[in-house]
Amino acid sequence: MQTAKANFQFFLATEVESITDEFLKKYIINVRDIEDEEFEEIKNFFSLIIKYICTSQIDKAVIICKELIHNNIGLGIPYVMLTHELINLIGLIMKKLLYKNAKNELYELYQLQAVFEDTIAKIYLDKYVKDLQKKNSLRISGLSDIYEQNIILYYKSHLEWLTDLSTAVSLRENRFFPETNHNLCVFGKWLLDSGKNIIQNNSKYKNISKLHENLHFIAKQIQNYILEEKPNNHIILTYLEKCEMLSLSLGTELALIDNTLINSQASKDPLTGALNRQRLNKLYTNQLEISFATSEPFVLAMCDFDFFKKINDNYGHIAGDKMLENFVPLVKQTLRTSDMIIRYGGEEFIFILPAIKEKKARELLNEVKENFAKFVLDYENHKISTTLSIGMYEINPENCDRSFFRDSNNAISIVDKKLYEAKNSGRNRVC
Ligand code: GH3
Ligand code: MG
Ligand code: MG
Repeated sequence: MQTAKANFQFFLATEVESITDEFLKKYIINVRDIEDEEFEEIKNFFSLIIKYICTSQIDKAVIICKELIHNNIGLGIPYVMLTHELINLIGLIMKKLLYKNAKNELYELYQLQAVFEDTIAKIYLDKYVKDLQKKNSLRISGLSDIYEQNIILYYKSHLEWLTDLSTAVSLRENRFFPETNHNLCVFGKWLLDSGKNIIQNNSKYKNISKLHENLHFIAKQIQNYILEEKPNNHIILTYLEKCEMLSLSLGTELALIDNTLINSQASKDPLTGALNRQRLNKLYTNQLEISFATSEPFVLAMCDFDFFKKINDNYGHIAGDKMLENFVPLVKQTLRTSDMIIRYGGEEFIFILPAIKEKKARELLNEVKENFAKFVLDYENHKISTTLSIGMYEINPENCDRSFFRDSNNAISIVDKKLYEAKNSGRNRVC
């Protein structure tokens, strides 16, 4: 027995470090950009936690874990990853112990692991609920600033519902629980009633209804769990995270429908059929607020025809006008119905592409660019064509300075510079 203990201590001293190192490189470093300093910090945390767990000092392991959690929520490492990888790591050590036939230690470690798991989940849940309430009140206040409050307003009511849900979880109290029946909450009633006519598109309506129904279904499950004598914190947390995710998706869907409605109803520039420049500031600010309220990035882009003066000079102004007339319908073939095309001036257009990441936006804009280059205008026995230069920028609410980007001029000046880059590096490209 004594030798087994000594063996175990020796094992800890010699192997924990290398297991932790190897493990972190394989599972954490490979999946995420991490700076050396950050890596060292996480590594120290992990080594300490493992040492404490293996020496039955669960209290100390919990303290270290609390620190790790508080630091890393800031760094954005999600709970699921942190705990699962920790458990994964403990599993790895168990395997080695098994190999060394250290049965007693293995058994002890197994018991500690379960206590430890629940302890982490509880800490994380409490922190998560607090953060969710803070984030939600910011989301709600941002939505109040939107100029054109259409159906996105109903999203606001569901954010309030989500805040109530998190309050009920934090207090573990059933009487604070929001409406769990999906047909009876404010949004659900609207969806059954006027929402049906407003959303129009049948498959979108079904999609949104399903999303909403699932959200309530999971909330109902949370209610069942918090009523239990020993609530399973891990499951409650995972379900609550899922509820937040579904709520944000609901907001994104509603905002996209609002955009489609604006696109079909707003007055247009008579020559090109694009939205008028007078609306740019409002449309942009709305998009920014929605982006913050739904935690979804969006892309702003500016484009300009290449050598357009030559077309006017060689074939006349009417030929130039015809090129402009054909542009928006051509772009619409590639862009989504919720994307906005605004005539910024002459042959310059601004695109607002909601709920999209840079990579996908770049693909779309490259397609726009290619299609335009292929387009040929037949005009008075001439075949006229030209190319397009585009500057784009992703605005991500997770990492952008909200007050800087609230000024649309700041964002426009960024894409203007990108456009200039595209022109200077040879035109017919997306920068
Ligand atoms: P670059 O590749 O550098 O953009 O060259 P460019 O010739 O396109 O230069 P620029 O963008 O500065 O020129 C825009 C021209 O577009 C100038 C103007 O005559 C023309 N233009 C602006 N509005 C209209 C319009 O409504 N109809 C027509 N036909 N031409 C327009
Ligand atoms: Mg031009
Ligand atoms: Mg121009």
